[in-house]
Amino acid sequence: MKFEKFIVPPLHNNAYLVWDEKTNDALVIDPAQGADKILDFAIENNLNIRAIVNTHYHFDHVFENANLRKKTNASVMMHSKDIPYYEKDEMSEKMNKGKVEKTMVNAALRESDIIRVGKEELIVIHTPGHTEGSICLYHTQEAILFTGDTLFAGTYGRVDLPGSDPNKMKETLARLADFPVGTKIYPGHSKETTIENELEWLKKFKV
Ligand SMILES: [Zn+2]
Ligand SMILES: [Zn+2]
Repeated sequence: MKFEKFIVPPLHNNAYLVWDEKTNDALVIDPAQGADKILDFAIENNLNIRAIVNTHYHFDHVFENANLRKKTNASVMMHSKDIPYYEKDEMSEKMNKGKVEKTMVNAALRESDIIRVGKEELIVIHTPGHTEGSICLYHTQEAILFTGDTLFAGTYGRVDLPGSDPNKMKETLARLADFPVGTKIYPGHSKETTIENELEWLKKFKV
């Protein structure tokens, strides 16, 4: 599996383009406001964007779902529990950033779903806490985990927003503490880390 990170507006988001180098099938994790930048890279590298996967419904992550879908016809996927929030667009109004252009969600994801990109597979890990339907995406063979706003280097996502649940976040962090220590973490903002780097504080959530 190959991937490229793009740091894009509106909130220094990390958008990821993930692809299978044998088939050139690709997917985008959280386009944010990077649709055109990501698309340029995909065209240059002959990649076909088949899907847009959102780690959660927040406006910064889903901002250009519609733009990217229009240009690629990619399927939009997010966890079933975040779809109603996406449709209501609670956050973008709250944050006063103007309306996010909506598009249809083509696939409602659940725990353990497998998202295929060419021959590569990402497993959906339901990690509620930051939002009800937050997910991480796990590539087993390479031990890579895309964590959205659930787990960052040194900390975890806010739990005081619509759909947040501090208790569920604790359970989620305890679960992440059990991932292989070598797992590489690619969050929705800021820098990469590993489970090993975070284990000391993550372990405290295990009961
Ligand atoms: Zn968020
Ligand atoms: Zn975010």
